[in-house]
Amino acid sequence: MASITLNNLVKKYGDGFPAVNDISIDIADGEFIILVGPSGCGKSTLLRMIVGLEDITDGELLIDGERVNDKAPRDRNLAMVFQNYALYPHLTVYENIAFPLRLAKGKHSEEQVNKLVTEAAATLELTDHLQRKPANLSGGQRQRVAMGRAIVRQADAFLFDEPLSNLDAKLRGQMRSEISQMQRRLGVTSVYVTHDQTEAMTLGDRVAVLKMGELQQIASPRELYEQP
Ligand code: ADP
Ligand code: ADP
Repeated sequence: MASITLNNLVKKYGDGFPAVNDISIDIADGEFIILVGPSGCGKSTLLRMIVGLEDITDGELLIDGERVNDKAPRDRNLAMVFQNYALYPHLTVYENIAFPLRLAKGKHSEEQVNKLVTEAAATLELTDHLQRKPANLSGGQRQRVAMGRAIVRQADAFLFDEPLSNLDAKLRGQMRSEISQMQRRLGVTSVYVTHDQTEAMTLGDRVAVLKMGELQQIASPRELYEQP
């Protein structure tokens, strides 16, 4: 787990208007923070800057107080939770969850892989499905496999980029509560991007509202509800 500090972050693509304009947020260790706002407001750019997939034009990004602006994604120990379609259809659930460990060459023995995958599967109630292929799972189970990949990496933080946007309304509701329970159970620092008001108001400890690349406000859901 880790704290994440955004100090006056700026992202410019070419000469245009900044996609992210002077955003500062202190994300506490274990906090669940939501980035919300309309399409094009800079949510995914900000998330990608945190994970290291997008260069930072200006400002500073700190993880546990250490500047990471120039660190490669693999050196940041953050886990992106992808939408369910990011699963490998030809691999079993077990191998899908193990995949990040296999990428990190030489780091994990087969015994360690087995231990980490088995624990993640138990946490996610996927133990009985480990030998299945994604096509034979429900949407909710697939989403849990995607979470399993993040868990197994023992990352310092989870980053979610609209993970529920492909799901139907019923499943979205179910997954919302699963993600919320999971985050609280694991207590892992999480940053969650969505344009969905319900997700924003029910999932996080705090909601950061973005508009045209700027941080409009940041408050708890309760404080946002109570605003006139
Ligand atoms: P959101 O995730 O809130 O929909 P984005 O972060 O995707 O917003 O985009 C913010 C702004 O940056 C938009 O104006 C978008 O067009 C622009 N943008 C995003 N990615 C690129 C890119 N690779 N090149 C140029 N402009 C981009
Ligand atoms: P390469 O160095 O082969 O081009 P990448 O740059 O795609 O590979 O990724 C290198 C490492 O960075 C991956 O092994 C992974 O640990 C990490 N990484 C890449 N993308 C993400 C992401 N979206 N979320 C978390 N970690 C990532």
